[in-house]
Amino acid sequence: MRPITVSITGAAGNIGYALLPRIASGAVFGPDQPVTLKLLEIEPAMKALEGTAMELYDCAPPLLHDVVCTSDPEEAFGDAEAVFLVGAMPRGPGMERSDLLRANGPIFTGQGAAIAKAASQDVRVVVVGNPANTNCLIAIHAAKKHGMGPEHFTAMTRLDMNRATAQLAIKAKTQIRDVSHMIIWGNHSPTMVPDVTHARINGMPAAGVIGDDAWLKDAFSPTVRTRGKAIIDARGKSSAKSAAHAAIEHMRQLKVGTAPGTWTSIAVYSTGAHYDVPEGIVYSVPVTCPGDGSYRVVEGLSCSDEVKALMKASADELVSEREAVQDLLG
Ligand code: NDP
Repeated sequence: MRPITVSITGAAGNIGYALLPRIASGAVFGPDQPVTLKLLEIEPAMKALEGTAMELYDCAPPLLHDVVCTSDPEEAFGDAEAVFLVGAMPRGPGMERSDLLRANGPIFTGQGAAIAKAASQDVRVVVVGNPANTNCLIAIHAAKKHGMGPEHFTAMTRLDMNRATAQLAIKAKTQIRDVSHMIIWGNHSPTMVPDVTHARINGMPAAGVIGDDAWLKDAFSPTVRTRGKAIIDARGKSSAKSAAHAAIEHMRQLKVGTAPGTWTSIAVYSTGAHYDVPEGIVYSVPVTCPGDGSYRVVEGLSCSDEVKALMKASADELVSEREAVQDLLG
């Protein structure tokens, strides 16, 4: 079978370390599909990347066709059918979110352009590196200048959805597989909206099965929103395995599809047509994926006034993030 090219940026980092062996073992494209992995790093991390690639070979994954290590984005994205944009500038001491946005802007401008120029015209991109939604928007604008449309680019809120799903299962003392239809609206930031309104446990409304409105209101959303910090406090390091797993599931569902009757949450470029989300931001919504790389926003879901207000606050945040990088959007 012809190998598929998959590109990963920040490949020598924590998430990359957890991500690479799983992609090379068929987690995205299945157990028969060989993959060529193209790994991008900044110059200072090239030696660490070499070590990561050595360990990857030492896993001897039968599906691994080839590994390319490079600091040149166009080489890294050449012929890629799937791209994981993981590398991003970390938040330094005293840095505000706006500083982080500005620091990451040039990385995603360059990478968006390089993807449009070098990748397969069917490529699908997931942005993991934070601030993921607006990094994705910057990449979209850069790619557009080279003729590639926004439908190729998405940002990850799947980890937030997974965290919420697992919390519901634990609270209901049931299996994770029994929980479905969780939604994350908005930005991958503290304004994200974990919405349990349509979630089901064994097909029944989750709120009714749980029967604890106070927990849903006061404990559930804060637990989901602050889970990243809780993991850092417990492990002494940020989440990596769960972030890598979520990125894999995000890409797998785009490429292979969502199961009939289910949906997933993905941050997508808003056309202004759904849920009063302003046009031209990257906003997380429930989507179904037919399995050809495309997605369809699930339409017509009811939202309470409380959820609508939270959704608007997250959209407002994304609009202000867009304003902070306006000059990069050209
Ligand atoms: P990680 O691999 O741990 O994280 C990478 C990015 O993923 C960060 O922006 C991080 O955000 C983000 N992220 C998104 N969701 C999560 C989550 N749930 N948990 C944890 N992280 C999440 O970072 P490392 O510093 O270990 O590695 C980054 C690598 O990227 C380095 O090797 C560096 O050299 C490289 N890099 C590459 C660039 C390029 O290819 N041009 C540019 C810049 C860096 P957050 O910081 O908020 O945790």
